[in-house]
Formats: sequence, C-alpha cells, structure tokens
Amino acid sequence: MHCLLCDEKMSATPSWQALIAIEKSSLICEDCSKTFKRVDIKDRSETITDIHSIYAYNEGMRAYIHQYKFLQDVALAAVFADALRAVLQRKDAIIVPIPMHPQKKIERTFAHIDELLHAARIPFEDVLVKTNTDVMGEKTRDERLAMRPLFTMKQGTDIQQKTYILVDDIYTTGTTLQHAATVLKEAGAVQVEAVTLVRA
Ligand SMILES: [Zn+2]
Repeated sequence: MHCLLCDEKMSATPSWQALIAIEKSSLICEDCSKTFKRVDIKDRSETITDIHSIYAYNEGMRAYIHQYKFLQDVALAAVFADALRAVLQRKDAIIVPIPMHPQKKIERTFAHIDELLHAARIPFEDVLVKTNTDVMGEKTRDERLAMRPLFTMKQGTDIQQKTYILVDDIYTTGTTLQHAATVLKEAGAVQVEAVTLVRA
C-alpha cells in the first residue's frame, strides 16, 4: 500500500498490531503523520459554548487541505477519521456539517465536510443551507460584521431538544461558525458547540 499523501510505499504493519487495531490501518506514512501537530485548542463564544479545534494549521496541514479540497482528492477524507470520530462520538448530540453553497459544491465535486464525516462513519444532519458564495478571507472585519446571514435553515427542519455540534475544517475568524450557530439558536437549538479539524 502507498501513502495517500506522498505516494511512498509503506511497509506492512506488524500482524499483531493489525489484529488488535484493524481501524488503525494507516492511510498515510509515518513521515507524513509526523507533519501534523495535534493541539486540541478549546475556545468559546457568546453563541457557542465549546469550540474544539483538533490540529494546528501548519505546513503539513496546509498541504493536506490543498490536496483534499482544491485538488479534489476525496480519498483523503479518511486520513483524520479516527481523530474526528474520537472527538465527535457523542450519542446525545446532533452533528451538523457547515455546508457549501450549492454552486460551489458543483465546482468542487464534493462537500468536503460531509465527506470527512462519512469517512469517519459519523451520522450527521444537513440542516443548514449556505446562502452566499463570499470568501471570508477576502473581507475586512467590518465587512464581515455587516454581512447578511450566511446560512438559513433547510425547509422542514425540526430542531430537537439536544446539543448541536457544528463541524468545519478551519476555524479562522469564527464568523462562519457564529453565523451558523445564530441560525440554529434562532430556530430553537438550546446549545451549540463546534468542532473544527484545524485552528488557523
Ligand atoms: Zn507519506
């Protein structure tokens, strides 16, 4: 088997290890694994009680996200499946991926957050709809604050008396998560938390 990131041939895992942890069968080589830095940063905001970011946005992560999102290498969705599953495995919460604008999804061919969750076998509910295609990084702070809501609730969605956990890839300014959390709260969600793969 070859590493999904650098294509280097990987040596077979010792058999006792493979037997104990079938789930751990590696998709990427040890050298590539070492390029990611686990940080587990916890944050909070007015609308989100707990924001957990798992990895640092370093060179390795930048390369991964580029290959996954922009070169559309969907197989890479599974690289962080174990880490995401460990953080998100909570039966009492409803997982909500940050959606892409439908037009963007056509361009990118797949919804990258949905695929991360699929690969980790984490059930989720697509309750949000992205309403504009603006790129957050191209805006000033004032422009971001003055923006109209980025999301609406999907028609016919019932909000339950449970915690909602938003999932996104990168936490930068927090604007995207704030907008999503506000929409959920206005629709009746009691508590909103968030998990992001990366903290920029
Ligand atoms: Zn590698």
